[in-house]
Amino acid sequence: MNSRIKKFLSYYKPYLGLFYADMACAFMISAVTLVLPLCIRYVTKNILDGNMANAHQQLYVMGAVMLVLVAIHTICNMFVDYQGHTMGAMMERDMRRELFEHYQKLSNRFYDEQKTGQLMTRITNDSFSLSELYHHGPEDIVISMLKFVGAFIILINIDVKLTLIVFLFLPVMAVYSFYFNKRMNIALRKSKDRIGDINAQVEDTLSGIRVVKSFTNEPVEERKFAYENNRFVQSRKEGYKSEAYFSAGLIAFTQLITIAVIVFGGAGMLHSSLDLADLLTFILCIGILIEPIQRLVNFARLYQEGITAFDRFMEMLEIEPDIQDSADAIELAHAQGNVEFKQVSFKYNENYDYVLKDISLDIKAGEYVAFVGASGVGKTTLCSLIPRFYEITRGAILLDGKNISDISLHSLRRNIGIVQQDVYLFAGTISDNIRYGKMDASEEEIMEAAKKANAHDFIMDLPDGYDSDIGQRGVKLSGGQKQRLSIARVFLKNPPVIIFDEATSALDNESEKAVQESLEKLTDNRTTLVIAHRLSTVRNAQRIIVLTDSGIDEQGTHEELIKLDGTYANLYNLQLKI
Ligand code: ADP
Ligand code: MG
Repeated sequence: MNSRIKKFLSYYKPYLGLFYADMACAFMISAVTLVLPLCIRYVTKNILDGNMANAHQQLYVMGAVMLVLVAIHTICNMFVDYQGHTMGAMMERDMRRELFEHYQKLSNRFYDEQKTGQLMTRITNDSFSLSELYHHGPEDIVISMLKFVGAFIILINIDVKLTLIVFLFLPVMAVYSFYFNKRMNIALRKSKDRIGDINAQVEDTLSGIRVVKSFTNEPVEERKFAYENNRFVQSRKEGYKSEAYFSAGLIAFTQLITIAVIVFGGAGMLHSSLDLADLLTFILCIGILIEPIQRLVNFARLYQEGITAFDRFMEMLEIEPDIQDSADAIELAHAQGNVEFKQVSFKYNENYDYVLKDISLDIKAGEYVAFVGASGVGKTTLCSLIPRFYEITRGAILLDGKNISDISLHSLRRNIGIVQQDVYLFAGTISDNIRYGKMDASEEEIMEAAKKANAHDFIMDLPDGYDSDIGQRGVKLSGGQKQRLSIARVFLKNPPVIIFDEATSALDNESEKAVQESLEKLTDNRTTLVIAHRLSTVRNAQRIIVLTDSGIDEQGTHEELIKLDGTYANLYNLQLKI
């Protein structure tokens, strides 16, 4: 916990100047609040009692003094509101950036388990509650303490007995406030979780909006959404109930105290132990004394909320990425492209069965290897182990003779290009998406890559050519077009090892031919691993590896495997018939 507090405070560091200025203003705000009733007391007691010679002049002087005080109060208030909040926002930005960078480091295994909507909530809502605490927290404490102590001193100086009466109310009031505040907190936390659930639901539905429409399942989605949405209202309702008790109760207490002071103070006046000026000042100061309670209770809420958010933030930040560079990771400038599997076994999770068992495989630089086998035997898994998307359970994978876990992730992944079946394109233009393969590529390089990927022609047919917007995730393009953009991206990246994971399976014959052609251009002088469903696309491979549940079943060229008349020949004959 100690290190967490240190971490919590560390976010103030870049803004210490602002922070101190903020505290100074908080101090001034409290001081002025306390001095003003004293001025009023002075005016009513000393100037207005008719004994002063230059009463008029004095009155104007005091008026001017109070004007100055009010001006200071206003300026400090504005500073706290404006700069204090800005400081909070900047701290929020810093934390958010740190979390975002961390998100990018977390492994695929983490993302297999998480809901994107929940992760989004953490980075937006949670950091906001923290910034509120960062900025209002210290300010609330300073203002509350000063006002409470200051008002107490003034009250006790005016009338001890009357002060005692006021203080009889305070413990009851404090207990009452904290009780309802606590209930408010619990409800608030619940409603936060509910917001996360709503986000997750919206994210899920909108991502799959095309599926929803095709099944005309909008009512189903609406029902799911309504369920989450109603749970949100329920949690808010509980919160508002406690809040109502809290606020109305606090006002009632203040009124009760005022009545008590008027009655008992009035009695004092009748006995001439108190004058009107004192009673007036006393009543003005009650407000100043009680305000800190409300402020502290508010602070307790901010604190609860902020600390919960901070805990959630730290929990996320403390998740060690299960795949990261080893301490003395090697930088691999440009690999030749020898890939070797040494008795590699892999399972996704301790509780799962092995997907791959004792796989040994030696792929030479520049070789063109195809993987075939039934769906679910682990072809995609096998290929995703080479860029270390998942950590192998046993054995070793070597790139140019070096264990991939000793190579820096950055340089390892820079040497591998992947084209997947479900291409992911980012919102933006065609050109932006191709440039993703090499961020500093020139327009000419982008165009050249597009030409090699057989994408140039269709791009030129678009209304804005390379500057055409492709829509969210590339919805404005066809499957084959998206696929060719993703190939252009890899052309630009120009890695020595490439992996095609069923890149053509979902395409029609025409697009398949275009993609196939560009693939073949890309394979020149590179180590190529192709996973293909359609055996027609693997015929040209130098080696075909047939995977089954028990591992590598057979390998060889198309002709050799046909001659062998085993699994591959069977698969091939089956597809020919279709
Ligand atoms: P293929 O590409 O040969 O069709 P995969 O490599 O995708 O097969 O899957 C192999 C096995 O691993 C399947 O049983 C699948 O259910 C499982 N699997 C795939 N991805 C994951 C994952 N992210 N988490 C857990 N299990 C997975
Ligand atoms: Mg697959």
